[in-house]
Amino acid sequence: MIKRVSYNKDDNCLETYNIIVPGLIDFHNHLKFNALPRAVISSKYNHRRDYREAAVGLEKAALEFEELLGASDELACYAYLFSELKALSGGVTTIQGATGLSQKINPCIQSNLVRNIENPEDFYHSDHSIGPKILNIVDIDGWKKDPEKFKLTENPNVFHRIFLHLAEGQLDHTIQERADFLPFVFSQAKRFVLINTIGLPMKDYDDLGKQGASFIWSPESNITLYGITNPIPLMIDFPIGLGSDWSLTGSFSLWEEMQKAYSISQKLNWNIPPKRIFQMATAGQEILDLPIGELKVGHFADFFLVSQKKERPENPYEYLLTQASRKHIKLVVIDGKPIYGSYRAIKDIDPNFQHFRKVSKGRCNNPKYLRTEVLKGYKFKTLKKKLGKAVKKVIDNNPGVFFTDSQNKLRSPSYNLFPC
Ligand SMILES: [Zn+2]
Repeated sequence: MIKRVSYNKDDNCLETYNIIVPGLIDFHNHLKFNALPRAVISSKYNHRRDYREAAVGLEKAALEFEELLGASDELACYAYLFSELKALSGGVTTIQGATGLSQKINPCIQSNLVRNIENPEDFYHSDHSIGPKILNIVDIDGWKKDPEKFKLTENPNVFHRIFLHLAEGQLDHTIQERADFLPFVFSQAKRFVLINTIGLPMKDYDDLGKQGASFIWSPESNITLYGITNPIPLMIDFPIGLGSDWSLTGSFSLWEEMQKAYSISQKLNWNIPPKRIFQMATAGQEILDLPIGELKVGHFADFFLVSQKKERPENPYEYLLTQASRKHIKLVVIDGKPIYGSYRAIKDIDPNFQHFRKVSKGRCNNPKYLRTEVLKGYKFKTLKKKLGKAVKKVIDNNPGVFFTDSQNKLRSPSYNLFPC
């Protein structure tokens, strides 16, 4: 926990020239799929169900991968580990979307690495009766299958957030869905976090926002799949979180999604200020009522350091969105503990360097190191071999579904996740 935020030379202070940034929150992800490469989307879809029901292309490849993970707990653990490392090395300290876990796989995602918002233990260690209860309902079809899941607890110490893909498609393809489900969503709006909700009449964004609903924005994935995205200027006063979505159609991770959101805003003349975009990547208190996303007393000590140029940038938010990248990250700290970073930055805080191992590939001046205990005995060599083999199998079985050029390499498990 952060006990004090101040600057006093007499304190035992560690001075840094780097920018201190609160840990990013990836508000929407599908961790199990995140080792798959980018998919080729040659024509746009009208609705989420169009590709999910197609049983070919994108969905078939994803299901095949899911089946491979289902058949091997070890492989599944490596898939989650890979996704979390990808997030961590880009400054993410909390992530949504660790779903579809069997009881056995659960320990693979239990903390030390990034916090998983579906996992109450990652936020409140001692008393499980107090804390978040976050439901993840993939979409309306999931809701229809298991309406019991929507029964909400009466315990005032437990708050609910229901993450739901709703109206993910063109306006004239969401008519029935809206008629069937919007009344219920409106009756509990405060508890809903609406994902990829691009197909609502303009008035509904305003009404839902005023009733207390939150929205998750994943522009890269929206535009790739449907050619459109949320009308953000109409929603700008309501809680909005950014999510990188899955690797098949979304950004590499949240930092890249944040940069995409900024460039789209510029391109469409929305001119959303850099600070507001950055807030979307850190709105943990606003959307989840959790002590994350800000450097203030009582919040978790989750943050990272980013190197800056010789001249201090005039607007650090703009610098993060337009000039810096994950390779400029010097240190990532979760719960006050250095987890990942360069030798100097780690050693300044944790002189016992034995807990760390080098993870950057090739030669560079400032290679990155990772706290070994977060690997929980899993090996990079095996990760590369086994996960790489599973990804290759899915690519080979599904010709034409994935990019085969450099983008493919960029997103495969052999990609250097720890640039320096
Ligand atoms: Zn999604």
